[in-house]
Amino acid sequence: MIINLSKKNSLLSDWISELRDMQLQSDRMRFRRNLERVGEIAGYEISQQLPYEEREVQTPLGISICQVLKEQPVLATILRAGLPLHQGLLNVFDKADNAFISAYRKHKRDGTFDISLDYISCPDLDNRIVIISDPMLATGASIVNTIQYMKAEGNPAEIHIVVAIACTVGIEFVKRSEPQVKIWCGAIDEELTAKGYIVPGLGDAGDLAYGLKVQM
Ligand code: URA
Repeated sequence: MIINLSKKNSLLSDWISELRDMQLQSDRMRFRRNLERVGEIAGYEISQQLPYEEREVQTPLGISICQVLKEQPVLATILRAGLPLHQGLLNVFDKADNAFISAYRKHKRDGTFDISLDYISCPDLDNRIVIISDPMLATGASIVNTIQYMKAEGNPAEIHIVVAIACTVGIEFVKRSEPQVKIWCGAIDEELTAKGYIVPGLGDAGDLAYGLKVQM
């Protein structure tokens, strides 16, 4: 299931346009903050689908029967590009548990790449609601590999994926490989280059947020 958060116009579309805009992207603080804001909106939208329970809350004047989140989700992200989106989700789910995974594209001489996963810090995921963030859903390979890697830490009750921009090829790949997941995205683009970049996309989200890296 895919939920496109900019199907209806809102400020989210404005922030996505700033993320894409070459004139504004060089402002790293603004770039990171816009990703964070996308995470905050996605977190709020996801929160409407989560289970709640009644709790009696003592106010200075009486007792209020309140609806509170039944359980805290696990927020997971892929280092390093996922960090700002993750922070946005954490601003909303401020009591959540957290998981971090390192995944990177190991480039080969012929221009293709494999996804290499080599670090995970994760709570027990059995029966948990897991929300994984990654700014760009391109081929879908890193998200699918990450989900499979994380399943070694338990069998989640629900998996949500939050991305700023998703590409149709990647969406189809995730749907085929992990049909139970829900994908929440800020925009959908049609094209993917041979090197796995989304077109028009925004460029390299990790580099724009944190600076250029040496190619692995
Ligand atoms: N990762 C990025 O940062 N950008 C893309 O277009 C695809 C993957």
